Amino acid sequence: MIKNRTIIIASSLFLCLSTAAVSASLALFVPDVSWQKNLVVEILLILSLFPIIIGVLLLRNMTTFARYAEQYSTRDSLTSLYNQKMFWDFLRDEIERSRRQDYRFTVMIVDVDNFKAINDIYGHETGDAYLLEFSTIFKSVVRKGDIIARYSGDNFAAILPVCDESQAYIVAKRLLEILRDHFFLLPNGSTIQSTASIGMAVFPDHAKDSEGLFLVAETMLSQAKLSGKDRMRLPSDEVNIELLKSAGEKSIFIMEAIRKKQVVPYFQPIVDVKENSVLAYEVLTRIVTPQKVYTAVDFIEAAEGMGAIAKIDYLLMEQAFDAVKRNGYRGKLFLNLSPKALVMNEFIPTLRSLMDKYGVEPSQMVFEITERDTVKNLSLIEKTINGMRADGFRFAIDDFGSGYSSFQYIKTFQVDFLKIDGEFIRNMTGNSGLENAIVKNIANLAMTLGIKTIAEYVESQAILDNVRSSGIDYAQGYHIQRPTVEMVH
Ligand code: C2E
Ligand code: CA
Ligand code: CA
Repeated sequence: MIKNRTIIIASSLFLCLSTAAVSASLALFVPDVSWQKNLVVEILLILSLFPIIIGVLLLRNMTTFARYAEQYSTRDSLTSLYNQKMFWDFLRDEIERSRRQDYRFTVMIVDVDNFKAINDIYGHETGDAYLLEFSTIFKSVVRKGDIIARYSGDNFAAILPVCDESQAYIVAKRLLEILRDHFFLLPNGSTIQSTASIGMAVFPDHAKDSEGLFLVAETMLSQAKLSGKDRMRLPSDEVNIELLKSAGEKSIFIMEAIRKKQVVPYFQPIVDVKENSVLAYEVLTRIVTPQKVYTAVDFIEAAEGMGAIAKIDYLLMEQAFDAVKRNGYRGKLFLNLSPKALVMNEFIPTLRSLMDKYGVEPSQMVFEITERDTVKNLSLIEKTINGMRADGFRFAIDDFGSGYSSFQYIKTFQVDFLKIDGEFIRNMTGNSGLENAIVKNIANLAMTLGIKTIAEYVESQAILDNVRSSGIDYAQGYHIQRPTVEMVH
């Protein structure tokens, strides 16, 4: 480029000088009438300036072209922010600089919530206009030296040099607040509001290389999205990248299974120990791929961690209710539910509409809650449970006896069933007698409170006999029936 510029300048000057020289010699032949001579000299001098003018124009065009070329390869054409390639170049440079100068910096990934809906409802032009406005807002909350890139579609990534967790938190908070208060003007004069979700990671605390850092921020973003959007997430402690990578693979596996509708309910009967009749079926989730059937223990915790449980619950309920309808089943269904699901706004309306669709009655539904997913706001859950019980739904405490808050749970919630933790039941026939004593006491306590008891993990006839003689009402386990894809007993 510099070489081209020199050539243009040199040739313009050369042309200019030679035209001037030619003009001067021509002027000698013009008759010596002073006004004629002056006019010709002036015209020739003006002509001699042309090469310079052309040269200047050429140079200007070249600079504009160079700017366009640079813009095209480094910037996003809609927002003029850096593109993905530049983001990675800057990220690698920033890691080097931050190592040399020993400071922290933050990678922030921001994704517009429900952008697909804006595009679908109002069209791509409006979608683009929204993204442009969004990019202006994003630029307004960061500092001058910060780098923002449009990573892809409605996904933006920023590098905030010399910025630790607490400073990043402030930037993210400001962005979320501005977006919540921002009204985007539509072409028809009405306005819409949209929020964003943010994932962040700090170098070197959360990862020591660019890929790792990005992976952490991306995982935090998907957690923010899946736990309800319009929020930010920072890793709580030092993150183990290897763990995260495997969790990342698991998340992809789960998302794929949801997309391909490979999440299916299996049914395990719960029987009355005296009459051997089926009281209910517990719905247990499975991922069924052509190669293998994965049980809940393989993926349920990961699904809860990544916030995919609501989607799984939906798929399960829909298929389980469909089975209820197909089989003309009028008994009860026990569904495992994380307490968090109960307080989600969409849960009850979704449940109700599915029940209406398949003709399932509230009295057929029993929700099993565990303390695995600890919830701080017990009183909120208490209110929900009481409201749902008044509507005819029933509740059970799962894995009762396995943790400290089990007794807290029966004190706080009105429940209908206690499912005694399978580990006690399985060991009832052992020598120590301890499990037997625990199970008998739980059965007595439940009877006093008017709560029915269920024994899980009944793996043999001997255990079933013990369960019966301990005063337990219902039993479930491999000895009676393994979970199966159909409701069988
Ligand atoms: P859980 O609710 O205590 O479910 C009982 C687990 O024990 C099930 O494993 C079941 O297949 C297994 N099981 C049944 N009978 C026996 C037996 O006789 N012996 C032994 N050793 N095991 C038996 P699964 O399906 O892998 O579920 C594991 C846990 O995952 C469940 O424990 C439950 O807490 C959770 N889970 C399962 N399905 C769902 C779901 O749809 N949503 C939620 N949130 N959690 C679920
Ligand atoms: Ca259960
Ligand atoms: Ca259980």
